[in-house]
Amino acid sequence: MSQKNWNLEPSLESAALLKLQDQYELFIDGKWQAPLSKKYFDSINPSDESKLAKIAWANEADTDVAVKAARTAYENVWSKLSGAQRGKYLFRIARLMQEQAKELAILETLDGGKPIRESRDVDIPLACNHFFYYAGWADKLQEAFAGQQISSLGVAAQITPWNFPLLMLAWKVAPALACGNTVVLKPAETTSLTALKFAEICQQAGLPAGVVNIVTGYGDTGAALVAHTDIDKIAFTGSTAVGKQIQKACLGTSKKLTLELGGKSANIILEDAPIDQAVEGVINAIFFNQGHVCCAGSRLYVQESIAAQVLAKLKFRLQSIYVGNPLDKNTDIGAINSKKQLETIERYIKLGIAEGGQIYQPTCELPSKGYYCKPTLFTDVAQSATIAQEEIFGPVLTIQTFRTMEEVIQKANNSPYGLAAGVWTDKGSRIFGLSQQLRAGVVWANTYNKFDPASPFGGYKESGFGREGGRHGLSAYLKFSN
Ligand code: NAP
Ligand code: MG
Repeated sequence: MSQKNWNLEPSLESAALLKLQDQYELFIDGKWQAPLSKKYFDSINPSDESKLAKIAWANEADTDVAVKAARTAYENVWSKLSGAQRGKYLFRIARLMQEQAKELAILETLDGGKPIRESRDVDIPLACNHFFYYAGWADKLQEAFAGQQISSLGVAAQITPWNFPLLMLAWKVAPALACGNTVVLKPAETTSLTALKFAEICQQAGLPAGVVNIVTGYGDTGAALVAHTDIDKIAFTGSTAVGKQIQKACLGTSKKLTLELGGKSANIILEDAPIDQAVEGVINAIFFNQGHVCCAGSRLYVQESIAAQVLAKLKFRLQSIYVGNPLDKNTDIGAINSKKQLETIERYIKLGIAEGGQIYQPTCELPSKGYYCKPTLFTDVAQSATIAQEEIFGPVLTIQTFRTMEEVIQKANNSPYGLAAGVWTDKGSRIFGLSQQLRAGVVWANTYNKFDPASPFGGYKESGFGREGGRHGLSAYLKFSN
């Protein structure tokens, strides 16, 4: 049963193309501005713990300058442009991103640790497509909401996480600008570099000053932005805990809010499923991007009659997974985003063992420097086990079995989250039946982790509210007055 790991020659993407600065300032009002805080922090490459750049830390006073710039740009310039004019800027940004896609992909991989294959083939193309998609809507907003009176909101504060840095920026900035708003965006502290590169692209596109402002920093920068009294809209993607704090901070204000939060998504294999395809789908659902995916299929439910076969195939497949340097084109699983996140994942793995789970990890070797974690399977997991209930945000899969449809629906829905789910079966009727009953924002059938700018994304329950993407994504950035 055991298979030796592949022994492939390294195939490293060259980072020579990148023109990284030693130090990055804040991007406010179309210019690079030194922070009033006078403070900077380091961005680290998690694959080898080297320092990539020094980045400005924005305090409350800095966020205030950024919000004022966004307000002025909104009132004097952006809200006065026609949809077609806004669309032109968005198309220009999309094309510039596409032209610099390779540089963006390398930067995303260096700063965040994800395999170059993913940043090159998934993150960056999807981010470009979001700009193309919303550029197309900018002059058709009235058609999108026929018969309704719509207007832009004003200034949007946007806060993004570290798992899909540029893609989450695109999900937020593109619809906001298309609808006529200006933005102040705070990227996650460990992955600010592609947002700063995006600021350069806004300059190259000739975007009017103040329409996009990027304030880098820690959680307190985000909190200052949320608390600012001249913000009309907050779009947050991140953890449920911080999402709840933001919701509290908005109570009693007129700020419009969308929250895209955590998940613990169920992936269900029925006994009639094409098993090899399903196994490959499970691997993609949880080990893609080191499991740093809000909608990762982190709970696997397999029908009892095929459970032994699926488990054997999963273990066999894991033996050939390549964990290592994210810049290597062979790499399947790159670096964990930060030391802190690696510690969190390791704590959950220990807890899984302590709570009686059976662990399986392949025999691969991990690089000696950097933050890495082996892909991990847990069997003999109780539904109530912590690792089956809480979001781990790492490459850890719990596997449980079921006998009947009623049982699996109950188990899959027994979660505080409701972001996504996967169903593997040969029968269309079962797909429709299950997807109607699963309390999840997205249900993938015989596939997983497929995204498209035209399809809305968002969750139920503690996974948040509001939708990003598609026509639905526009309504989060518009005021409806009838
Ligand atoms: P996080 O800790 O909640 O941070 C998200 C962002 O919020 C970061 O920019 C963070 O800054 C900032 N922040 C922290 N405390 C804040 C506060 N009090 N007020 C305002 N902003 C604050 O989440 P994360 O660890 O970066 O990301 C992982 C989480 O995001 C997971 O739970 C995942 O499921 C979720 N996620 C959800 C989706 C979705 O679409 N539903 C997509 C991607 C990720 P710092 O970086 O400095 O902490
Ligand atoms: Mg980093």
